[in-house]
Amino acid sequence: MSDWYSVWVDQHCETFAIADQNRVLAMLAWRVPLLDHLGASEVELHETTRMCVLDRPSPNFPNEHLEAIKRHLAELKVKARAREATAAEKYHDRHGTCAKCGDTGSVTVPHPRFIADLEWVPSSHNHQGDPIRATCAVSCDCYRGRKGYDAACLRVQGTDQLPPLTITAYETINPDWRAQMATVEYAAREMTRAVDQAAAMSLPNSLARSFKERAA
Ligand SMILES: [Zn+2]
Repeated sequence: MSDWYSVWVDQHCETFAIADQNRVLAMLAWRVPLLDHLGASEVELHETTRMCVLDRPSPNFPNEHLEAIKRHLAELKVKARAREATAAEKYHDRHGTCAKCGDTGSVTVPHPRFIADLEWVPSSHNHQGDPIRATCAVSCDCYRGRKGYDAACLRVQGTDQLPPLTITAYETINPDWRAQMATVEYAAREMTRAVDQAAAMSLPNSLARSFKERAA
């Protein structure tokens, strides 16, 4: 299978004149540990090869290569996080906290599958008879949201999974979501009030009240 990971293994082996097939196979088997466990990207792996070239002593045995690659990957991740934090800070200084997502990058919205005739309909009811309404998370259109969206698109690349919806795309499907959520929240609060009021008029509470009134 020739994909970017095996291309990188080829190039890394060529750079270090690794010809022994067992060593090449060992590196090919690091795919899941490097990509899924350490989250290495194609660009980062090629960068680690360049960093390994400058290492003194130079890595030789497979364990030395793996250790060096891990160390350099960690260095790259630290640098990337610092860059990212600075960029996010600059965006925040200019725009303040995002009103839509509170800088989390994602917005909770009514699940599009449960919008019927512009209404957010329940997906089920709990055992007390209260409606359950499904929500889903969409990517915000602010800096953090776009970063998260780009990362999610990279993750699903080449798989049959879909990237998350963006808030902009979602609003073309369901522009009235804020009003729907406000209506549902208001009605739920009213139900809580009704339950409390009804509880105050229950038999034990009514008896306790009249007992207190007679005693007064
Ligand atoms: Zn946002």
